[in-house]
Amino acid sequence: MAAATSFRLPPLPTVRDLIKLYKLRALRQLSQNFLMDERITDKIVKAAGKIHNHFVCEVGPGPGSITRSILKKAPKKLVVVEKDARFLPTLELLKEASGSHVDMVIEIGDIRSYNFEVGFEKAPSSDWFGAPPPIHLIGNLPFSVSTNLIIRWLEAISEKKSAWSFGRTSMTLTFQKEVAERIVAPVTHKQRCRLSVMCQMWCDVNHKFTIPGKAFVPKPDVDVGVVTLHPLKYPLVNLPFKMVEKVLRTFFNTRQKLCNKGADRLFPEEMRGELGPKLFSLADVNYRVRPFEITTEEYARICFAYKLICEEHPEVEDYNFRATKKTVAV
Ligand code: SAM
Repeated sequence: MAAATSFRLPPLPTVRDLIKLYKLRALRQLSQNFLMDERITDKIVKAAGKIHNHFVCEVGPGPGSITRSILKKAPKKLVVVEKDARFLPTLELLKEASGSHVDMVIEIGDIRSYNFEVGFEKAPSSDWFGAPPPIHLIGNLPFSVSTNLIIRWLEAISEKKSAWSFGRTSMTLTFQKEVAERIVAPVTHKQRCRLSVMCQMWCDVNHKFTIPGKAFVPKPDVDVGVVTLHPLKYPLVNLPFKMVEKVLRTFFNTRQKLCNKGADRLFPEEMRGELGPKLFSLADVNYRVRPFEITTEEYARICFAYKLICEEHPEVEDYNFRATKKTVAV
């Protein structure tokens, strides 16, 4: 007989009741907004795909609504990483309720310093070019943390480190709706920005659905987008992350101007006349367009052309337009 792919948690007080019981007032400084509707938390977990018998890390579980939906799918192991120790009793309750069905581990700390290699020590690794490993990161984090985190995680993906030392670990995360739209924005879209290109260079991204702000307690001022990110087998660039980040930041700093204006700022003033046009010609990209009109593939070629130029002119790599501006100002 096939093993059950889900299990029913024993009767528990509702999350709403637990919040009252333990006086878990949402802290503004931690941007806490809680989900109470099980249909929504089930939908978030469904967006992550198959997690039964897999290894899952939930970031920022809070009082544990999404945690309940994850546990019902009976993953092999669930690590929850929560910064606010006040949630320990509600998380302990869930750990107890899941008994021997799920190996649940509670970590009180900051996700930014969490060591996935330890947490997923027993998880099987898979070849980067094969099927993804049975590992998922799921979370409804404060917006400021999730945007910052995705940049750090893209860097880890580019280096195949941390949760990506096991293979192409997938992510299902919430963002402010506008940020979710930016992440998936295609070329020419009004929301297209540096974050869109960065995410799309390393991941297949999908805005799965939007949760109205009114579904949260307390209600945030904005709606929330649920986004999945699946690392690509063949990232569009295979260059140092910081180099790609620098090129894209420089281009998008002059979003409404033609690209050559922004691109020039990659080079010391006396070299711009020569190296600006050279960058576009090496990359075979038209410079008479604005930064959001360049495709992700074209950006990959621009980054590669920049790397070639840096090899020919090593002083270019350390050149920082902003730093020179500051020096002039002083
Ligand atoms: N997942 C719960 C839900 O959907 O109801 C809570 C969501 S609340 C928006 C974000 C949670 O992330 C809070 O519990 C907060 O304490 C936690 N958190 C904030 N920053 C964190 C960090 N750097 N590392 C881990 N958890 C964090």
